Amino acid sequence: MTNAELVAQAERVLIPTYRRFPVAFVRGRGATLWDADGKAYTDFLSGIAVCVLGHCHPRVVAAITKQAETLLHVSNFYHTLPQTEVATFLAEHSFGGQAFFCNSGAEANEAALKLARKYGRDHHGPERFEVIAMVNSFHGRTLGTVAATGQTKVQHGFEPLLPGFRHVPYGDLAAVEQAMNEHTCAVLVEPIQGEGGVVVPPEGYLEGLRHLCDQRDVLLIFDEIQTGIGHTGYLFGYQHSGVVPDIMTLAKGLAGGLPIGVMLAKPHVAASLGPGTHGSTFGGNPVACSAALAVLQTITEEDLLAHVRQVGAYFMAGLRRLQAKYPFIVDVRGRGLMLAAELDRPCAHVVSKCLERGYLINCTVDRVLRFLPPLIITEQEVDGLLATLDAVLAEE
Ligand SMILES: *Cc1c(COP(=O)(O)O)cnc(C)c1O
Repeated sequence: MTNAELVAQAERVLIPTYRRFPVAFVRGRGATLWDADGKAYTDFLSGIAVCVLGHCHPRVVAAITKQAETLLHVSNFYHTLPQTEVATFLAEHSFGGQAFFCNSGAEANEAALKLARKYGRDHHGPERFEVIAMVNSFHGRTLGTVAATGQTKVQHGFEPLLPGFRHVPYGDLAAVEQAMNEHTCAVLVEPIQGEGGVVVPPEGYLEGLRHLCDQRDVLLIFDEIQTGIGHTGYLFGYQHSGVVPDIMTLAKGLAGGLPIGVMLAKPHVAASLGPGTHGSTFGGNPVACSAALAVLQTITEEDLLAHVRQVGAYFMAGLRRLQAKYPFIVDVRGRGLMLAAELDRPCAHVVSKCLERGYLINCTVDRVLRFLPPLIITEQEVDGLLATLDAVLAEE
């Protein structure tokens, strides 16, 4: 089928919850994707921070293939090696957290919200159920996580929302302190806001949240679904600050392209979830966990985090040169390979023009160009995008 035929057929049979570009991809390798007509594109979005090792990385493909020939699924009534291995790796490379596995970011946050309520109730009684979350945050599309998300456009039409959330401006410690009361069981925050426009919080913010939570035995939950798995130059975004959360959620990049989610919790917090309190049929699936283990081992063994910091700095410098040339770029920000250029105008047309020229980027909160290339992106590929952006922005 041609690209046009595939798009036309898809539009007949899919519910249009996404505003999709008229492109159907059929193959990927490294940072390159090919559409059904054979046109090549360089991927600076990596499936929104999912394909962290690029497309079809040989180690991930080999791990999936081997596991698919060995064991596809058993119930969580039993143990499997891949699930235990991923949990062990995550515990050893983070804060010794214990893992609950699921299949997506929203599910990981649902698990975190349930655990926060349960911990609050277990330790402080039934009135401790409120979660403080941030304006312009994004935590998922389930009924619980849209209530947690601080964007009315995500909530509109689905009211009444799940009660028990208060939203305060991101980066504002005094607002968090003011919102805290005897009902507060947790503070939920992204170490860098992703969908909200790659917003890096002010210096000392995460430390301040940690302090406010510690004073009241309120749980600090980091949604690392976008910042996790290397994109910021550390395995987890919180490692920039050294502030350790009580609960961390991961998904997107963890299995390099297969569906997976995980909630990690400090053991004394995790203790509130006993047998029968939560579950997921597919959670911790052997194939997804084998892929995750391959991703995590590749990142550490090949020292990809050093690569992310180096290419990220190179990319950032290039974006700053564009900013100096085009005054309508009002800000350039981010960490590692989670970068953004904010314009003084809507930027959807910039994304479309880049796509026509063979580059996948993204526009978030209307005016922010977001870049989340795979961790294996090269300086040469960055040069290609920068030249394309230069040509596109020259038309403004
Ligand atoms: C993508 C994302 C989610 C939701 O993940 P899904 O897998 O789409 O459910 C939650 N939080 C953050 C920070 C995200 O970027």
